Amino acid sequence: MTNITSKQVPCVLCGKFTAQDILLSTNSSGGSDLDLRPPPMKRDTMSTWLQRCDHCGFVSYDISVLPETDVENQPESLSAELVKSIIESDDYVEQFHCKSYPRLANTFLCYAMLQERGFKSIPACGWACLRAGWVCDDGVKHDKINEEKHKANAIQCRKKAIQWFEKCRSIGKPFVQQNGSEELILMDLFRRCYMFEDALKEFTRAEGNKKYIDEFVWKLLEFENLLVEQKDVDCYKVSDAQICFKKD
Ligand SMILES: [Zn+2]
Repeated sequence: MTNITSKQVPCVLCGKFTAQDILLSTNSSGGSDLDLRPPPMKRDTMSTWLQRCDHCGFVSYDISVLPETDVENQPESLSAELVKSIIESDDYVEQFHCKSYPRLANTFLCYAMLQERGFKSIPACGWACLRAGWVCDDGVKHDKINEEKHKANAIQCRKKAIQWFEKCRSIGKPFVQQNGSEELILMDLFRRCYMFEDALKEFTRAEGNKKYIDEFVWKLLEFENLLVEQKDVDCYKVSDAQICFKKD
């Protein structure tokens, strides 16, 4: 069972307090989605994954402290002045208050901007954008009046995630550890953005490294390939792939 409480948290940048959702406990049952979105009930705890200060716009795992920087890319510690300059920039402020995205999606998208410009973790940029996409997916499911808008937003978020994950690849920075998993995630992202040819290129790339890929991950890649061939853009779980293998 998921247990979330609300707590007033002070912001390290502006000193003001805001109520934040704090996760006390949750559980997971069943497998994740193909893009590693966690299963219920953990998947519905996204409001606790980041905190946001509504007074100054700071977003972080814990807004009461300045996070550590990626020391490899930025050995010097990050000053509060630099973070302030990012959260006061026009495009950040616009994203923070953007009316066309759900509030929680804006939180993740702003976090990606902070990571890009301040904390310099490129994998974190990609994951934050993908998580914003999951928030938009939930909009598609639960806010039927605005279904088309949420669908378009989810695609925009996934395209941003693709950009960041491709950047990770270009600088040799892994964004998932297991062999074949990066291709799997990118295939899923491309497929869900209707970019089927790019998805197939990821499959071909994985084929070239097949001997290093775990059998289970390979089966998931094959399942993605099947979905791409069928031009299916829906969300699937790892367990859907397992059901599909059993039919073989
Ligand atoms: Zn603040």
